[in-house]
Amino acid sequence: MSGPLTLFKEKHIRYIQSLDTRKHNFEYWLTEHLRLNGIYWGLTALCVLDSPETFAKEEVIEFVLSCWDTKCGAFAPFPRHDAHLLTTLSAVQILATYDALDILGEDRKIRLISFIRGNQLEDGSFQGDRFGEVDTRFVYTALSALSILGELTPEVVDPAVEFVLKCYNFDGGFGLCPNAESHAAQAFTCLGALAIANKLDVLSNDQLEEIGWWLCERQLPEGGLNGRPSKLPDVCYSWWVLSSLAIIGRLDWINYEKLTEFILECQDEKKGGISDRPENEVDVFHTVFGVAGLSLMGYDNLVPIDPIYCMPKSVTAKFKKYPYK
Ligand code: ZN
Repeated sequence: MSGPLTLFKEKHIRYIQSLDTRKHNFEYWLTEHLRLNGIYWGLTALCVLDSPETFAKEEVIEFVLSCWDTKCGAFAPFPRHDAHLLTTLSAVQILATYDALDILGEDRKIRLISFIRGNQLEDGSFQGDRFGEVDTRFVYTALSALSILGELTPEVVDPAVEFVLKCYNFDGGFGLCPNAESHAAQAFTCLGALAIANKLDVLSNDQLEEIGWWLCERQLPEGGLNGRPSKLPDVCYSWWVLSSLAIIGRLDWINYEKLTEFILECQDEKKGGISDRPENEVDVFHTVFGVAGLSLMGYDNLVPIDPIYCMPKSVTAKFKKYPYK
C-alpha cells in the first residue's frame, strides 16, 4: 500500500475554512438540520489542529445565539428551527470552547437546564426532543451538556446510569436501547455518560475486559475500525472506538500504526478534509473524528483531545467534575 504518510494540517485547516464561517454563507455548510453540529465539528477539528482562530469567534457566537428557540428554551440547528438535545449540546460545546458560556445569561441558562432535564423519561433515558425518539445517544448528550453547564444532579444522573447499564450486552458491547444490537457509537455514548457521571466503577473488571475485547476486535486487517462485526471500516469509528478504549484505559489495545495509516489514506491530498474510507468524498464530520482519533493516539503533537467530551483537554480541564458518588 502506498498512501500519503503525513497529515496535511494546512490543507485541512483551509478545507474547514472553505466551509465558511460567514453568517450569510452558512447555507453552504452541510444541510440546515445539521448546521450547529457542523460548526462544532469544524471548530473542534481546528482546535485539534491548533488553529481555532481560523473561525471568526464573534460571528460564530452570534450565529449560535441566533439558533436559540425561544418557544422551547434551547438551541435549534438553525435560526427558526425547533430545538433539539443534539444541537443544544453543540451550542454549549461551542460556547464552552470559546469560554463564552456567560453570554447565555441567567434566564436562558435556567430555561436551557429545564429543557434538558424535561426530556428525561421515567426509565432514566432521554428523548431528543418532544417528538420522543429515545436512545443512549441522548443520555450522553444530556449528561454532557448538563455537566459542561455545571448542573448535574443525582436526580438526573442515578436513573440515567441505571438506563445505560440496561443497554450493556453480554458480548461486551452497548446498544441504542436495552436488548438492541451492540454498536461502537453506543459504546462511546454509554461509557462517556458513565465517565461524566463519575460512575465507571459500576462496571466490573470482567465487564471492562469484555468491553475492551469487543472494541479492539473492531480493527480490521486494513487497519481501519468498523462499528459492528462484518461491516466496512470507517474513519468516524476511529473516534467512537478509540475514545471508548481511552475511557476504560485500554487505548493501547489498538494497533496505532495501522489505524494511523488508514486515517491518513482517507485524506484528500488536493483540497484537504478526510473521508469515511479511502477515495470517498470528504466531509467535516469525518475530518474532525479523523484528527481527533490521531490526537488520541498522540500523533504529531496534535492538540490533546478529551476522550469523554470530544473537546480540547485545555477546555474540559476547567469543567467542574460531578462531585457525587
Ligand atoms: Zn462514518
